[in-house]
Amino acid sequence: MPKRRPDHVPTRSCAVCRTSHPKREMLRLVRAADGSVDRDDTGRKPGRGTYICQDPACREPARSAAAIKRALGAEPAPGAFEIEVNDAPA
Ligand SMILES: [Zn+2]
Repeated sequence: MPKRRPDHVPTRSCAVCRTSHPKREMLRLVRAADGSVDRDDTGRKPGRGTYICQDPACREPARSAAAIKRALGAEPAPGAFEIEVNDAPA
């Protein structure tokens, strides 16, 4: 018998506010081998990842960049990607 619980929802904690949310609601960011940071819309990019939740305060550029630097040890290049405040259905 498979032991997977059908109602199990994987969660990740936000790099900014540390609150856990369902993984599918989070924006994943990955530090690649060359030290660059990019957003990962597929959830499958290799590298060290961190997550940011949907809270607009957590997606404010200065706060998110600081949290990403703390979590990944690398700062996203200016303009490397955009984090939309409202890029998920409410
Ligand atoms: Zn957050």
